[in-house]
Amino acid sequence: MLKIENLKVSYDDFEAISDLSLKVEDGEFVAIIGSSGSGKSSLMKSINLLVRPKKGRIFIGEKEITSTNFKELRKLRRGIGFIFQDYNLIDRLSVIENVLIGRLGYKSSFESLLGIFKKEEYKNAMSALEKVGLKEKAFVRADELSGGQKQRVSIAKVFMQNPKIILADEPVASLDIATSENIMKYFENINKKYKISIIINLHDVSLARKYAKRIVALKKGKIIFDGRGGELTDDVLRRIYS
Ligand code: ADP
Ligand code: MG
Repeated sequence: MLKIENLKVSYDDFEAISDLSLKVEDGEFVAIIGSSGSGKSSLMKSINLLVRPKKGRIFIGEKEITSTNFKELRKLRRGIGFIFQDYNLIDRLSVIENVLIGRLGYKSSFESLLGIFKKEEYKNAMSALEKVGLKEKAFVRADELSGGQKQRVSIAKVFMQNPKIILADEPVASLDIATSENIMKYFENINKKYKISIIINLHDVSLARKYAKRIVALKKGKIIFDGRGGELTDDVLRRIYS
């Protein structure tokens, strides 16, 4: 379970998230919507402390992420997969090397420095690539892939962490409609088959409605809607995006 209590995020004097509380149960699929600047990315980045909240507490299960030391934070972060709009791959490395990077949270700095991976990790990386239908691309350079394929590699990479939660920040914003649907289906499958909770920032309300069981809308750093897609009437949408 993810629990956020009275979260406040600010950049200098500007308050991006104000007094936000949210609870997400294990296995939920939640879409976060809201206009640009409403605080979606700030909320997501606070969850693994890429952004330091000014106030509030965030719990992953029993552990309070906002009060951990560095070592504990590293461990907690393994359980949280993060997927970015721009894929966050290293272009000059092969696909499988990019996937193996997902294991770095489990390694000593010595092992990571030398890029030492066990046979078993290679096997797991191949099976992660198989899950996203990219096994045959394992030894191709990452920059030779299309946008949709790159995003599938970042999903495979996150699999290597064995995450409990996946946070995805507008993962389909740079993709065409058909490819977006394809990526959303991978998220849907991961959620159903592996019971991994998914929290996904989405620009496209119709995708949110189609794939997420729960939709949370932000406006000016506050939650102004939390419910099912069907409850998202035109009237509510006008309030969210006005
Ligand atoms: P969203 O993801 O919904 O577009 P963000 O969380 O990125 O929203 O941004 C919320 C607000 O915080 C915006 O007004 C944005 O300009 C501001 N903001 C975000 N990141 C920074 C930053 N690093 N420094 C200053 N202001 C920021
Ligand atoms: Mg954003």
